[in-house]
Amino acid sequence: MPESEKPKPNPYTVALQQLDHAALVAGTLPAVREILSQPKNELIVNFPVRMDSGEYKMFKGYRVQHSNILGPYKGGMRYHEQVSLDEVKALASWMTYKSALHDIPFGGGKGGIKFTPRDHSLAEIERITRRFTHALGSNIGPEYDIPAPDVGTNGQIMVWMMDTYMNVVGFSDKNANRRVVTGKTLASGGSFGRETATGQGIVHCISEWARDRRFDLNGSTFIVQGFGNVGSNAAKILARTGASLIAVGDWKGYIANPDGINSFKLSEYVLKKGSVVGYPGTRSITRPEFFATAADVFIPAALELEIGVEEAKALNVKLIVEGANGPTETDADPILRDRKIDVIPDILANSGGVVVSYYEWLQNKRSERWDLEEVEERLAKRMKRTYLAVSEYAAAKKCDWRVAAMAIALERVGRAYAERGIFP
Ligand code: NAD
Repeated sequence: MPESEKPKPNPYTVALQQLDHAALVAGTLPAVREILSQPKNELIVNFPVRMDSGEYKMFKGYRVQHSNILGPYKGGMRYHEQVSLDEVKALASWMTYKSALHDIPFGGGKGGIKFTPRDHSLAEIERITRRFTHALGSNIGPEYDIPAPDVGTNGQIMVWMMDTYMNVVGFSDKNANRRVVTGKTLASGGSFGRETATGQGIVHCISEWARDRRFDLNGSTFIVQGFGNVGSNAAKILARTGASLIAVGDWKGYIANPDGINSFKLSEYVLKKGSVVGYPGTRSITRPEFFATAADVFIPAALELEIGVEEAKALNVKLIVEGANGPTETDADPILRDRKIDVIPDILANSGGVVVSYYEWLQNKRSERWDLEEVEERLAKRMKRTYLAVSEYAAAKKCDWRVAAMAIALERVGRAYAERGIFP
């Protein structure tokens, strides 16, 4: 069967393969590896919502709580037609390792609803969100499980979740419940810098990589897959270094311009048209052409498992910075390694989002508002520190960065189990 026709692997299988590789390097005890191989809780809710037409439609929502050994479950809510239990399980486990890698006192969770948000009006999305939050009830909570935005969700959707939760659960201390979700809008308790945080974190990683390799980003080129929150913010922030976006794609198709694409104007275009396709001054290219584009940096910022064997062989870049969660298949990793393409793995590269979500949660808890400079300074410091830790660990253990990042996380989780023991 040609590579391009092979079905994508199961994301949870990929997550388990990554766990096994890293557990060997970290010396994780078999019992702990066994515990981490399944989430603690898997919740599926089916609920009806009235459509604008007056008809009712059933929706399937998920919340998976992978681990809370280091703190409350934490992770995004995804609205997408591809959402499935195994996808959410994989994403929830990566959140455990992401928080542990940064030594943030959170565990890992993830959720979502299987549907296509662009087929629905804003009013329907609000009713879907509120009914889903109601169905979850006290299975989420400010000290228990804290959702955030992911694919297909944003600050407004987080505010509807917060408002529904506040009005349904714990009515007396309503305001203490604001931090039940992060990634909220500024007016409703969000943090400065949260919306751009994941993109900003990606650019910190790229800048550190460039500094280590004495690579000049000014005049360099990059390509981006997925131009939503993560892809567009990373592109806009990276453009400040003098790097030039030369190809980009999303759910609808791919475009290119070797002379550079203005990320700011492209973002405005996407807001109006819902896709990058048709952006003036660019030519339409195929997905294989996109993956074969010669550039310095590739930022996958769409869905998981987009880089398979075929893409790994085609990519013509020096560095992949994983904005998306789980964008690389297990079989693609050794090919990238052999081809000397550096990979900054997802749990490090896109962790700016959870770092600033933690800052938002802290600000809500303390009734504080930090200014943008303070948030950005703290984020920069933490990203650089963790980047250095992964780089040193990989050099010391002679392993790749994906294994190193996960092994650091596993060592932290493993220590907590060793000290606390496994109940009873
Ligand atoms: P988003 O919904 O804002 O954007 C998703 C983008 O991917 C859109 O441009 C969409 O058109 C594109 N896309 C969807 N299906 C595609 C396909 N089949 N092929 C190509 N492009 C496709 O979502 P986001 O928040 O930017 O998240 C993107 C990735 O980053 C996800 O993997 C998410 O888990 C990860 N992530 C997000 C955050 C965050 O703070 N939002 C943090 C860490 C990681």
